[in-house]
Amino acid sequence: MPELPEVETVMRGLHARLQNRRIVSFVQRRPDLRFPLPPGLAGRLTGRVCHGFRRRAKYILVDLRGGPEAQTLILHLGMSGRLSFDGAPAGAHEHLTFGFDDGTVLRFVDPRRFGMLDLVPTAASATHRWLAHLGLEPLAPGFDGPALARLLAGRLQPVKTAIMDQRLVVGVGNIYASESLHRAGVSPRRLAANVGPGRAAALSAAIVEVLEQAITAGGSSLRDYVRADGQLGNFQSFFRVYDRAGEPCGRCGGAVVKLVQGGRATYFCGRCQR
Ligand SMILES: [Zn+2]
Repeated sequence: MPELPEVETVMRGLHARLQNRRIVSFVQRRPDLRFPLPPGLAGRLTGRVCHGFRRRAKYILVDLRGGPEAQTLILHLGMSGRLSFDGAPAGAHEHLTFGFDDGTVLRFVDPRRFGMLDLVPTAASATHRWLAHLGLEPLAPGFDGPALARLLAGRLQPVKTAIMDQRLVVGVGNIYASESLHRAGVSPRRLAANVGPGRAAALSAAIVEVLEQAITAGGSSLRDYVRADGQLGNFQSFFRVYDRAGEPCGRCGGAVVKLVQGGRATYFCGRCQR
Protein backbone atom coordinates (compact mmCIF):
# COMPACT_ATOMS: atom_id res chain seq x y z
CA MET A 1 0.00 0.00 0.00
CA PRO A 2 1.37 3.43 -0.81
CA GLU A 3 2.49 5.18 2.37
CA LEU A 4 2.58 8.89 3.19
CA PRO A 5 6.00 9.49 1.55
CA GLU A 6 4.88 7.85 -1.69
CA VAL A 7 1.66 9.84 -1.69
CA GLU A 8 3.59 13.06 -1.06
CA THR A 9 5.89 12.13 -3.95
CA VAL A 10 2.94 11.46 -6.23
CA MET A 11 1.31 14.75 -5.21
CA ARG A 12 4.52 16.65 -6.01
CA GLY A 13 4.75 14.86 -9.34
CA LEU A 14 1.19 15.88 -10.18
CA HIS A 15 1.93 19.46 -9.15
CA ALA A 16 5.00 19.64 -11.35
CA ARG A 17 3.14 18.40 -14.43
CA LEU A 18 -0.39 19.70 -13.99
CA GLN A 19 -0.22 23.12 -12.32
CA ASN A 20 -2.53 25.45 -14.30
CA ARG A 21 -3.37 22.72 -16.82
CA ARG A 22 -6.98 22.53 -17.99
CA ILE A 23 -8.83 19.20 -18.07
CA VAL A 24 -10.09 18.72 -21.63
CA SER A 25 -11.27 15.11 -21.43
CA PHE A 26 -12.17 12.55 -18.80
CA VAL A 27 -12.98 8.90 -19.42
CA GLN A 28 -14.47 6.74 -16.66
CA ARG A 29 -14.66 3.02 -17.41
CA ARG A 30 -16.61 1.77 -14.42
CA PRO A 31 -19.17 3.18 -11.98
CA ASP A 32 -17.14 2.58 -8.85
CA LEU A 33 -13.77 2.05 -7.26
CA ARG A 34 -13.93 1.19 -3.56
CA PHE A 35 -17.09 3.31 -3.46
CA PRO A 36 -19.42 4.52 -6.22
CA LEU A 37 -17.85 7.42 -8.12
CA PRO A 38 -19.72 10.73 -7.88
CA PRO A 39 -22.29 11.26 -10.64
CA GLY A 40 -21.60 13.31 -13.75
CA LEU A 41 -17.84 13.40 -13.25
CA ALA A 42 -16.89 14.01 -16.89
CA GLY A 43 -19.13 17.04 -17.15
CA ARG A 44 -18.05 18.40 -13.80
CA LEU A 45 -14.31 17.98 -14.50
CA THR A 46 -14.01 18.99 -18.13
CA GLY A 47 -12.97 22.62 -18.53
CA ARG A 48 -11.68 22.93 -14.98
CA VAL A 49 -8.12 24.14 -14.32
CA CYS A 50 -5.84 22.41 -11.79
CA HIS A 51 -4.97 25.22 -9.46
CA GLY A 52 -3.65 23.76 -6.20
CA PHE A 53 -2.18 20.46 -5.02
CA ARG A 54 -2.35 19.35 -1.39
CA ARG A 55 -2.01 16.19 0.67
CA ARG A 56 -3.87 15.25 3.85
CA ALA A 57 -2.72 11.96 5.33
CA LYS A 58 -2.75 9.66 2.29
CA TYR A 59 -5.32 11.66 0.36
CA ILE A 60 -4.31 13.83 -2.59
CA LEU A 61 -6.40 16.98 -3.00
CA VAL A 62 -6.45 18.83 -6.30
CA ASP A 63 -8.16 22.21 -6.19
CA LEU A 64 -9.96 23.05 -9.44
CA ARG A 65 -11.04 26.43 -10.74
CA GLY A 66 -12.84 27.54 -13.85
CA GLY A 67 -16.43 26.93 -12.86
CA PRO A 68 -19.09 28.62 -10.79
CA GLU A 69 -17.72 27.21 -7.53
CA ALA A 70 -14.19 26.05 -6.71
CA GLN A 71 -14.12 22.25 -6.53
CA THR A 72 -11.62 19.83 -5.01
CA LEU A 73 -10.87 16.38 -6.33
CA ILE A 74 -10.03 14.04 -3.45
CA LEU A 75 -8.10 10.93 -4.42
CA HIS A 76 -6.78 7.97 -2.43
CA LEU A 77 -4.63 5.34 -4.11
CA GLY A 78 -5.98 2.52 -1.94
CA MET A 79 -3.97 -0.71 -1.88
CA SER A 80 -2.73 -0.89 -5.43
CA GLY A 81 -3.67 2.34 -7.17
CA ARG A 82 -1.14 4.31 -9.15
CA LEU A 83 -1.09 7.30 -11.41
CA SER A 84 1.01 7.38 -14.53
CA PHE A 85 1.56 10.00 -17.18
CA ASP A 86 1.32 9.39 -20.89
CA GLY A 87 2.58 6.04 -22.18
CA ALA A 88 0.32 3.36 -23.60
CA PRO A 89 -3.14 2.58 -22.22
CA ALA A 90 -2.79 0.26 -19.24
CA GLY A 91 -5.57 -2.17 -20.18
CA ALA A 92 -8.36 -3.55 -18.04
CA HIS A 93 -7.14 -1.97 -14.80
CA GLU A 94 -7.05 1.57 -16.17
CA HIS A 95 -10.30 2.89 -14.71
CA LEU A 96 -9.93 6.65 -15.20
CA THR A 97 -8.12 8.67 -17.87
CA PHE A 98 -7.64 12.43 -17.68
CA GLY A 99 -6.61 14.48 -20.74
CA PHE A 100 -5.12 17.98 -20.40
CA ASP A 101 -4.84 21.00 -22.67
CA ASP A 102 -1.13 20.45 -23.37
CA GLY A 103 -1.69 16.86 -24.50
CA THR A 104 -0.68 15.30 -21.18
CA VAL A 105 -2.57 12.10 -20.33
CA LEU A 106 -2.93 10.91 -16.73
CA ARG A 107 -4.06 7.34 -16.11
CA PHE A 108 -5.42 5.95 -12.84
CA VAL A 109 -4.66 2.24 -12.73
CA ASP A 110 -5.89 0.14 -9.83
CA PRO A 111 -6.04 -3.67 -10.10
CA ARG A 112 -7.62 -4.21 -6.68
CA ARG A 113 -9.94 -1.20 -6.84
CA PHE A 114 -9.53 0.01 -3.25
CA GLY A 115 -8.86 3.48 -4.62
CA MET A 116 -11.23 6.31 -3.70
CA LEU A 117 -12.25 9.45 -5.53
CA ASP A 118 -14.68 12.22 -4.73
CA LEU A 119 -15.35 15.72 -6.04
CA VAL A 120 -16.60 18.30 -3.55
CA PRO A 121 -16.73 22.09 -3.14
CA THR A 122 -13.31 23.27 -1.97
CA ALA A 123 -14.91 25.03 0.98
CA ALA A 124 -16.19 21.66 2.23
CA SER A 125 -13.03 19.64 1.58
CA ALA A 126 -11.53 19.89 5.08
CA THR A 127 -14.67 18.48 6.68
CA HIS A 128 -15.17 15.70 4.13
CA ARG A 129 -16.15 12.46 5.86
CA TRP A 130 -12.88 10.81 4.75
CA LEU A 131 -10.78 13.60 6.30
CA ALA A 132 -12.66 15.01 9.27
CA HIS A 133 -11.50 12.42 11.82
CA LEU A 134 -7.81 12.44 10.88
CA GLY A 135 -5.15 13.24 13.47
CA LEU A 136 -2.10 15.49 13.40
CA GLU A 137 -0.21 15.86 10.13
CA PRO A 138 3.42 15.10 11.03
CA LEU A 139 4.89 17.26 8.27
CA ALA A 140 2.73 20.29 9.09
CA PRO A 141 3.73 23.09 11.48
CA GLY A 142 2.78 22.33 15.05
CA PHE A 143 3.84 18.67 15.12
CA ASP A 144 6.46 18.70 17.89
CA GLY A 145 7.30 17.14 21.23
CA PRO A 146 4.61 18.88 23.29
CA ALA A 147 1.94 18.11 20.68
CA LEU A 148 2.91 14.43 20.56
CA ALA A 149 3.17 14.23 24.35
CA ARG A 150 -0.38 15.58 24.67
CA LEU A 151 -1.65 12.90 22.28
CA LEU A 152 0.10 10.07 24.09
CA ALA A 153 -0.73 11.15 27.63
CA GLY A 154 -2.89 8.66 29.50
CA ARG A 155 -2.99 6.08 26.68
CA LEU A 156 -2.59 2.53 27.94
CA GLN A 157 -1.36 1.06 24.69
CA PRO A 158 2.14 0.54 23.28
CA VAL A 159 3.61 3.72 21.83
CA LYS A 160 4.07 2.07 18.43
CA THR A 161 0.37 1.25 18.25
CA ALA A 162 -0.50 4.82 19.27
CA ILE A 163 1.68 6.57 16.67
CA MET A 164 0.17 4.35 13.97
CA ASP A 165 -3.39 5.33 14.97
CA GLN A 166 -4.62 7.65 12.19
CA ARG A 167 -6.94 9.40 14.64
CA LEU A 168 -3.86 10.58 16.57
CA VAL A 169 -1.12 11.01 13.95
CA VAL A 170 -1.54 10.34 10.23
CA GLY A 171 0.85 8.67 7.84
CA VAL A 172 3.13 6.77 10.22
CA GLY A 173 2.93 3.34 8.64
CA ASN A 174 4.47 0.19 10.08
CA ILE A 175 7.92 0.65 8.55
CA TYR A 176 8.14 4.32 9.51
CA ALA A 177 6.97 3.59 13.06
CA SER A 178 9.76 1.02 13.59
CA GLU A 179 12.38 3.29 12.05
CA SER A 180 11.27 6.37 13.99
CA LEU A 181 11.24 4.57 17.33
CA HIS A 182 14.74 3.24 16.70
CA ARG A 183 16.12 6.66 15.81
CA ALA A 184 14.48 8.14 18.92
CA GLY A 185 15.77 5.32 21.15
CA VAL A 186 12.23 4.54 22.32
CA SER A 187 11.05 0.95 22.79
CA PRO A 188 7.98 0.09 20.71
CA ARG A 189 6.66 -1.76 23.77
CA ARG A 190 6.74 1.27 26.08
CA LEU A 191 3.26 2.37 27.15
CA ALA A 192 2.22 5.56 25.40
CA ALA A 193 1.30 7.03 28.77
CA ASN A 194 4.92 6.55 29.92
CA VAL A 195 6.67 8.21 26.99
CA GLY A 196 7.02 11.59 28.69
CA PRO A 197 8.16 14.94 27.26
CA GLY A 198 11.79 14.07 26.53
CA ARG A 199 11.08 10.92 24.57
CA ALA A 200 8.11 12.60 22.88
CA ALA A 201 10.41 15.36 21.63
CA ALA A 202 12.91 12.83 20.28
CA LEU A 203 10.17 10.72 18.73
CA SER A 204 8.36 13.59 17.00
CA ALA A 205 11.66 14.76 15.52
CA ALA A 206 12.48 11.20 14.39
CA ILE A 207 9.08 10.76 12.72
CA VAL A 208 9.61 13.96 10.72
CA GLU A 209 13.18 12.96 9.84
CA VAL A 210 12.21 9.48 8.65
CA LEU A 211 9.26 10.70 6.58
CA GLU A 212 11.30 13.47 4.99
CA GLN A 213 14.14 11.09 4.22
CA ALA A 214 11.68 8.69 2.62
CA ILE A 215 10.18 11.49 0.53
CA THR A 216 13.64 12.50 -0.61
CA ALA A 217 14.27 8.89 -1.61
CA GLY A 218 11.00 8.84 -3.52
CA GLY A 219 8.98 6.62 -1.23
CA SER A 220 9.55 3.10 -0.05
CA SER A 221 6.66 0.85 -0.93
CA LEU A 222 7.57 -2.79 -0.96
CA ARG A 223 4.91 -3.64 -3.48
CA ASP A 224 3.57 -2.72 -6.88
CA TYR A 225 3.71 1.00 -6.46
CA VAL A 226 5.40 3.42 -8.80
CA ARG A 227 5.94 7.12 -8.61
CA ALA A 228 4.02 9.55 -10.81
CA ASP A 229 7.05 9.59 -13.08
CA GLY A 230 7.19 5.78 -13.16
CA GLN A 231 10.32 5.35 -11.01
CA LEU A 232 10.46 3.09 -7.98
CA GLY A 233 11.44 4.66 -4.70
CA ASN A 234 14.43 3.33 -2.77
CA PHE A 235 13.96 4.20 0.89
CA GLN A 236 14.64 0.54 1.75
CA SER A 237 18.37 1.27 1.73
CA PHE A 238 17.80 3.64 4.68
CA PHE A 239 16.19 0.99 6.90
CA ARG A 240 18.10 0.64 10.16
CA VAL A 241 15.91 -1.98 11.86
CA TYR A 242 12.97 -2.84 9.61
CA ASP A 243 13.33 -6.37 8.17
CA ARG A 244 16.80 -6.64 9.77
CA ALA A 245 16.09 -9.18 12.52
CA GLY A 246 19.32 -10.76 13.78
CA GLU A 247 21.54 -8.07 12.33
CA PRO A 248 23.55 -5.77 14.62
CA CYS A 249 22.05 -2.44 15.64
CA GLY A 250 23.95 0.33 13.88
CA ARG A 251 24.01 2.44 17.04
CA CYS A 252 24.95 0.04 19.85
CA GLY A 253 25.80 -3.30 18.24
CA GLY A 254 22.94 -5.08 20.01
CA ALA A 255 20.78 -7.48 18.02
CA VAL A 256 17.76 -6.26 16.09
CA VAL A 257 14.80 -8.37 17.15
CA LYS A 258 11.36 -8.90 15.68
CA LEU A 259 8.10 -9.14 17.54
CA VAL A 260 4.47 -9.00 16.50
CA GLN A 261 2.33 -6.20 17.93
CA GLY A 262 -1.32 -5.92 17.01
CA GLY A 263 -0.74 -8.28 14.11
CA ARG A 264 2.09 -6.17 12.66
CA ALA A 265 5.79 -6.99 12.62
CA THR A 266 7.89 -4.69 14.78
CA TYR A 267 11.68 -4.51 14.55
CA PHE A 268 13.74 -2.88 17.26
CA CYS A 269 16.96 -3.04 19.23
CA GLY A 270 16.40 -4.50 22.68
CA ARG A 271 19.52 -2.83 24.05
CA CYS A 272 19.32 0.87 23.12
CA GLN A 273 15.57 1.41 22.74
CA ARG A 274 14.03 2.04 26.13
ZN1 LIG B 1 20.87 -0.57 19.64
